[in-house]
Amino acid sequence: MTKTLECPHCGQDADMSAANAYRPFCSKRCKLIDLGDWLDESNRIADPEGSAPGAPWSGGDETAH
Ligand SMILES: [Zn+2]
Repeated sequence: MTKTLECPHCGQDADMSAANAYRPFCSKRCKLIDLGDWLDESNRIADPEGSAPGAPWSGGDETAH
């Protein structure tokens, strides 16, 4: 029997059997798009927290000499 679920990205029927390497998505495209969104979002959240190379309060002395 064939098991299908709605693709989380586009809502089309997606094959949930082992034949579909991209499940739970319907296609490679939807899987990549969804993963890309997720990575983009986590980067955006992580970025302002710790990875600022030039902190605004430490710039004065280094540029003066
Ligand atoms: Zn899809």
